[in-house]
Amino acid sequence: MLEPENLVVREYFSKLLGKEGLRILETVPDDEEITDEEIARLSETKLTTVRRMLYTLYENRIAEYRTERDDESGWITYLWRFNRENIKKLMRAEAEELLKDLESQLEEEREGVFYQCNCQRVLFEEAAAREFWCDECGSDFEFVENSGVIKELKEEVEEIEKWMQEIKRK
Ligand SMILES: [Zn+2]
Repeated sequence: MLEPENLVVREYFSKLLGKEGLRILETVPDDEEITDEEIARLSETKLTTVRRMLYTLYENRIAEYRTERDDESGWITYLWRFNRENIKKLMRAEAEELLKDLESQLEEEREGVFYQCNCQRVLFEEAAAREFWCDECGSDFEFVENSGVIKELKEEVEEIEKWMQEIKRK
């Protein structure tokens, strides 16, 4: 479920934790507890960074912990695990939001005619209003074919829809 290579998971956790966070995700086992020291060692991330991220995950109800006290040393160990049910809910909401975005991008691409200069891509209407000349980079706006963009967007939509079906079953 926490496949860090998955589009939805990647988007969500890099928004929440940044790129380093994805490395941490890869190291936390699906169904077992793990200590923060272990995560730091396995992900080769500084312990303070790991703790900060775990705290963010905790605040978002993604990670939970329990403590264990060593009777001799009095040392307290934090044992962390992911809350799979909450993650499932969050990922579903994230996927739905992403889908909505992608669908509206797709609609825009299907309906629009696009032009491009050396610095930006604009709709025909804008290119025409600027007389097909971009002041910002000093080049012509030229027609660009967008079937490649449409294909890519469609593939992303399909990937997310398929994944949503999969997490429903888990
Ligand atoms: Zn330009």
